[in-house]
Amino acid sequence: MDVVSKAAYDAIAIGTGPGGATVARELARRGKKLLILEWGPGGEIRGTASQYIRESMLPGKSLLLTPQLLGMVRAITTGGSSLYYYGTGFPVPVSMLRKYGVDVAAEVDEARAELPVAPLRDEMMTPMAWRLMDSAQQLGFAWHKLDKIMYQDRWRPEYPFGYFGDPHKVKWSARMYVEEAVALGAVLLNGAKVPRVLGDQRAATGVEFTMNGETRTASADRFIVAAGGIGSPVNLHQSGIREAGNDYFFDPLIMVCGTMKDACLRDNEIPMSAGVHMKDEGYMMTDMAIPPALHLLFTGPVFRLTKLFAFRNTARIMVKIKDKLGGRLTDGGGVRKSLTAADRSKLQHGFENSKRILQAAGATNIYKTAAFAAHPGGTVKIGEIVDANLKTRLHNLLRLRLLGNPGGLGTTTDPDPRSARQVPCPPSHCRAASGRTPCSCVTSASRHSERGNTHDNASHAGGLHGHRHMAHVDRSQPVALQDLDSCGDAARHGQSRQSA
Ligand SMILES: Cc1cc2nc3c(=O)[nH]c(=O)nc-3n(C[C@H](O)[C@H](O)[C@H](O)COP(=O)(O)OP(=O)(O)OC[C@H]3O[C@@H](n4cnc5c(N)ncnc54)[C@H](O)[C@@H]3O)c2cc1C
Repeated sequence: MDVVSKAAYDAIAIGTGPGGATVARELARRGKKLLILEWGPGGEIRGTASQYIRESMLPGKSLLLTPQLLGMVRAITTGGSSLYYYGTGFPVPVSMLRKYGVDVAAEVDEARAELPVAPLRDEMMTPMAWRLMDSAQQLGFAWHKLDKIMYQDRWRPEYPFGYFGDPHKVKWSARMYVEEAVALGAVLLNGAKVPRVLGDQRAATGVEFTMNGETRTASADRFIVAAGGIGSPVNLHQSGIREAGNDYFFDPLIMVCGTMKDACLRDNEIPMSAGVHMKDEGYMMTDMAIPPALHLLFTGPVFRLTKLFAFRNTARIMVKIKDKLGGRLTDGGGVRKSLTAADRSKLQHGFENSKRILQAAGATNIYKTAAFAAHPGGTVKIGEIVDANLKTRLHNLLRLRLLGNPGGLGTTTDPDPRSARQVPCPPSHCRAASGRTPCSCVTSASRHSERGNTHDNASHAGGLHGHRHMAHVDRSQPVALQDLDSCGDAARHGQSRQSA
């Protein structure tokens, strides 16, 4: 037993991605005694490929492979995947959420006012991005600039985009919120992996975690599971909520590449600066600039050896589809999900349209890469694992997750409550989580919701700004966020407002 083990906290947050970080910051602002447990490291963001590989490309840990060798990455580090994401924001599916009893309209406005979400300024769009946009528009696609979650006033032309982490802090990341929480007194333990929350059938009482080879425990009144789209269901599963982690989506994508002999990609290309959501077809297309190392990763496996080092002359469009729900996670977080025939057909359709756009832009030798899975979601569904208040069975166990829409312009179109996907949580939700206001923090959105409607200007207002509020609170039982605030009072006396 050590100090951590003996201490009793108001709340313990597991994970520091946008979900966990947002709630952690709000709890810290409320003066709560908070312990944050993060599996990954902290430390300086160097923006190097080696740091990226250590934190985001380790097979079995951050690089997960399906049996069909479809890769899926997540970052195990302070700030979670937001450290390495592409900073694209998509509209929060407010109307769809209302259908499930969750109204986040006001919170979306609040989030928009706080987060640096806007389309790129013209001078930040590179010639390649303009060229693809012109070509797509001439062909009749509603290709337009996308919202980016970036402090554009900090940007300088000589800064490379933060694919490998952004030491210049142009791109918003959840690390910023974690730092604020710690400055306000929260205790952050890095290298602390939490396999499970401890407790009985009614309530959680503590967490077990491993750190420096030792197993420890810590207790608290409330527990926030915010370990990401894979980590959270695995944790819930191990904590007795066995249904978590089935029947999900993972946003498969391909890159469509072509040679432009007269083009030269710059080092400061910003990915996903513009694109189009093909809502009826169930996919989106966007310009996709990636650094040489990632170009090798995508191009190598399709044996385009002559293209491997043609990085500077390669124009690229990413096609990301809305895949069919399915699959399961293993107890250890292994991804067992395959592409269906319908999924492959969408990828092919996206390939054909991307090829037209590239050709019209002057590209030749067009090819597509193997499919990759972008982001898992729908692993904890409203109506199954959580109720409309996003509570789980354990009255003091909340689950937060950034619903991210990963780089993806979500391509979803048909709301499906079973595939509820969490989306960025607005500030007030987080306040709720911190206890002062009732909260419906779990802005779970149907997976195939309007999240991908890039034409919805109104939604843009709420859009991804999100990352910052990508927190979801999945609580096991009706937990109005007041519960967290009452960590120290009602809950301590077994009177949690919503407890069963
Ligand atoms: C390359 C890439 C590009 C992306 N681009 C975009 C984009 O442009 N726009 C967009 O909206 N989204 C994008 N995303 C997706 C977005 O980053 C995620 O949706 C978002 O980060 C999810 O937040 P989260 O808090 O739910 O989980 P995560 O960010 O995954 O955070 C989970 C945290 O939990 C920790 N953890 C996991 N298991 C444990 C455990 N057992 N114990 C303790 N800690 C644990 C992890 O280390 C991590 O810090 C991208 C993702 C990637 C990988």
